Amino acid sequence: MRTFNKASKLENVLYDVRGPVVDEANRMEENGMRVLKLNIGNPAPFGFQAPEEVIQDIRDNIVNCQGYSDSRGIFAARKAIMQYAQLKHIPNVQMKDIFTGNGASELIQLSLNALLNTGDEVLIPSPDYPLWTACTNLAGGKAVHYICDEESDWYPDPADIESKITPKTKAIVIINPNNPTGALYPRELLEKIVDIARRHELIIFSDEIYDRLVMDGLEHISTASLAPDLFCVTFSGLSKSHMVCGFRVGWMILSGNKALARDYIAGINMLSNMRLCSNVPGQSIIQTALGGYQSVNEYTVPGGRIYDQREFICKALNDIPGISAVRPKAAFYIFPKIDTKKFNITSDTQFALDFLKEKRVLIIPGSGFNWKQPDHFRVVYLPRVADLQSATDKLAHFLEHYRQG
Ligand code: PLP
Repeated sequence: MRTFNKASKLENVLYDVRGPVVDEANRMEENGMRVLKLNIGNPAPFGFQAPEEVIQDIRDNIVNCQGYSDSRGIFAARKAIMQYAQLKHIPNVQMKDIFTGNGASELIQLSLNALLNTGDEVLIPSPDYPLWTACTNLAGGKAVHYICDEESDWYPDPADIESKITPKTKAIVIINPNNPTGALYPRELLEKIVDIARRHELIIFSDEIYDRLVMDGLEHISTASLAPDLFCVTFSGLSKSHMVCGFRVGWMILSGNKALARDYIAGINMLSNMRLCSNVPGQSIIQTALGGYQSVNEYTVPGGRIYDQREFICKALNDIPGISAVRPKAAFYIFPKIDTKKFNITSDTQFALDFLKEKRVLIIPGSGFNWKQPDHFRVVYLPRVADLQSATDKLAHFLEHYRQG
């Protein structure tokens, strides 16, 4: 009998974030067990709601959104994104430089597919949001990971970045605010990274999907604002800031010195045309979402859910013997370190599986984020404090006796 295998181009694609631990959690749920899921950055199931105005507008607009739009997106959406780019001081952006997508995810894949030849290298942070690594490899490129340093608030290490550049390096990816660490990068650090990109003539891909989820009165700085002389692509969307992951609304903005990338931009337009357009009802709420009052701000200040949950999880994890965690400044993730010697841990996947099976709490091991040592895991702190408390109590109990091997 003829059987069908996956394409060989998938063999090199690392995408473990939905791997064996999540499979086991799904199996447990199918068998009627309740699993507390701290694994995915999807606010809606945890009681976060989109702004009322956004819901109202998608409902009102849907009848007018039955046709394909311009491949890059409807005028009103792109105008609103252009004005947002102006507020973020992103230079040299015209309407033709803005592309809406079915989430930022679609555009991440599209932009790498349009750029990479076999063997081209892309610098990607470790730990990373693993879609970047997977899409680079799928496009025939090679993901080269640079270190983000836990000892320095999880900031990228410029010396490590520089040491990994080769004649094949085409681009650098910056994820700021960061998933999975929750780090927010200061201006001076971004300037250093931009300077490296400048000296080595790299494209900058800046993933800024959490830019409106910043705490402690800090300011998000768009990388592109520091690089008017380079070619930059900035990614964002409404999934996180407006709690509408399911609507699949993202965009990318081309900026800076576009003359350097004329042919690449033609490739981007070709792939954009091939997918016709992104979801038009989703596009119809971009103007409403980006303008005026931003309800997300209420979540990120003291008394707001994301802020209060961050305060809780950070303390609760650091109170567990053998666990330490850098305080996140943005987004809704924390990436704690586990003392591998104390618990004799050699596989972070096994640790996450053992914890899941015993306590029915789902976390993702650090290896799911292209972190090479078995000593980290990611917690999504979107659930309410009572659930986070239950999860951290369970982790503390579990670690009282856990020894791997
Ligand atoms: N970039 C980062 C850093 C993310 O964490 C995510 C989703 O978790 C995405 C991009 C994808 O977002 P979207 O829902 O817009 O596809």
